[in-house]
Amino acid sequence: MSKRLTTTSSSPDRRKALFRRVPSIERILSRPAIHSLASTFGRQAVTDATRTLCAELKRAVTEGLTEEELEERIGALDEAVGEKLREEIRASLRPAINATGIIVHTNLGRAPLSDRAVDAISEIARGYTNLELDLETGKRGSRHQHASHLLSRLFPGKSALVVNNAAAAVMLSLNTFAASKEVVISRGELVEIGGSFRVPDILVRSGARLREVGTTNKTRIADYEQAIGPETGVLLRVHPSNFRIVGFTESASTEEIAKLGRERGLTVIEDFGSGNLLSLAPFSLPREPTVAQSLASGVHISIFSGDKLLGGPQAGILVGDHAAIETCRKNPMARALRVDKLTYAALEATLLSFVEGKATREIPVLRMLSAPQSAIRKRSERFITALGDTGQLELAIEATTSRIGGGAAVDAEIATYAITIVDPSTPAQNIVTALRAHRPPVIARIVDGRVLIDLRTVAEQDEDALRAALISIQDDAS
Ligand SMILES: *Cc1c(COP(=O)(O)O)cnc(C)c1O
Repeated sequence: MSKRLTTTSSSPDRRKALFRRVPSIERILSRPAIHSLASTFGRQAVTDATRTLCAELKRAVTEGLTEEELEERIGALDEAVGEKLREEIRASLRPAINATGIIVHTNLGRAPLSDRAVDAISEIARGYTNLELDLETGKRGSRHQHASHLLSRLFPGKSALVVNNAAAAVMLSLNTFAASKEVVISRGELVEIGGSFRVPDILVRSGARLREVGTTNKTRIADYEQAIGPETGVLLRVHPSNFRIVGFTESASTEEIAKLGRERGLTVIEDFGSGNLLSLAPFSLPREPTVAQSLASGVHISIFSGDKLLGGPQAGILVGDHAAIETCRKNPMARALRVDKLTYAALEATLLSFVEGKATREIPVLRMLSAPQSAIRKRSERFITALGDTGQLELAIEATTSRIGGGAAVDAEIATYAITIVDPSTPAQNIVTALRAHRPPVIARIVDGRVLIDLRTVAEQDEDALRAALISIQDDAS
């Protein structure tokens, strides 16, 4: 019988005969193994999954599945239905391996947290906390006290407030000081950051009116001065982060703007973005101003993200004059933008690394940033050696650059080495797709038709998983 079917391989008769082998939905559903899945996943979901898999089987038959292959897949149907149902309810947020060399990669969740921060989260998450309880008086306390004492250590004489992210911090501060008033900002700073943070849009949503001054490439302090009137509420400075105007340019310094604002009784806010607490000079990176420098320039409030160069959880941090921060805190909007206990736990642990002077050792973002090129080369060599035979994959090591990313010193490139992967019979795009389909997914980049793996952004404990991914794509291709 089997012989007859295989010899008439592409005929409609054969196809019909093979189709008849596929059991009916009812038959499959009555199998005990399938039946028991209903108690976990529900009857409808089990029926739908079974129907989909049977349709796939029939399609495979029309595409030339052999009889043996068909029998094998029918035999494995119970298993496949269970697997499909489990897959459907799997968490959609999963760990991934970042082999792009872009350290603060917004699509990949920005900063990986330090061990200390992770430990703090699990400790706080497990039970009850003093989130809003004053342990001395036993009365209701404020969640805003958390992290503030550490931020005041890092920025002496300043107060701080933590909200959901930097966009929220900009929204809150403008709403507090410029609702139905004008915000004066240079045309050169009306930028879009990360695809969804558009300075003019946030500004308008805060209830403020935009008052653009200067031109795209040149804005002088006199431009700000002329724009100030009875309607003015805030002078805003935005760090352009992910773009740069080069050539014939001029801009007022933050000092000049802060001085002008204070003279005229206006609040001066700097959206600083990157949250750079340390000088990057020792890592031979371009000069990126620090938060302390922003504050020293005289602004009332400096705003930055928790999950960029600070290397902590997603958060927006406002640091500045006590009165200005308190006014923001009392704005009812602060209630809507507040952060939860897990964010405070991670943020406090992250800030503690800075307070104790251990940040470059403990914070993953700073460790990656400061890893010397030679160390990445050694890791890459060891990695390849441990991989052993790579079949048709051609691996090599070449000098290239990593990037900080995430709207911080965006054109700053860090010298690195990457492992290049070439498969003569597979386009680079297919390799990248296969790596992304692996579990855990590996995200790599393509340069000049070669796949690049930059170990700078790969945690050492992920190297085994990365090797497994490379071995699996080699098996797939062969
Ligand atoms: C990244 C960035 C933001 C947005 O920060 P989020 O924390 O993602 O909201 C705002 N302003 C500047 C200057 C930035 O670099």
